[in-house]
Amino acid sequence: MPSISDDDLCSDCAHCTYVPEAERHACANDFPGATDDDDYVISCVEFMPRVRTYRHYGLDYGIAAEFKDTDEGKAQANAFMEANPHTGLLAVESGRIIIAALADRGTKP
Ligand code: SF4
Repeated sequence: MPSISDDDLCSDCAHCTYVPEAERHACANDFPGATDDDDYVISCVEFMPRVRTYRHYGLDYGIAAEFKDTDEGKAQANAFMEANPHTGLLAVESGRIIIAALADRGTKP
């Protein structure tokens, strides 16, 4: 079984059930991805990006992009929003800068 860490391909895939705290993980498609020498999945034709959301004032918004709340992160967030004018700042909280689509009106959980 491949290894999974917080920042590898499977942890961002909707087919993966990844629970870092419990160190449990599985792939609904039985891990079709190609692995590197350390047994991490580095590419996969069945990769499906997980839709991540951020709860803000009781509504869930899709996260278009996320950056660290640092000077470098702010510059990256501004560059992202300039390059993607359909997005805007949703929240800055707990060291995170959260960007969402302007058209996203949020959904009730
Ligand atoms: S489908 Fe591929 S990327 Fe997704 S969890 Fe399975 S092996 Fe990982």
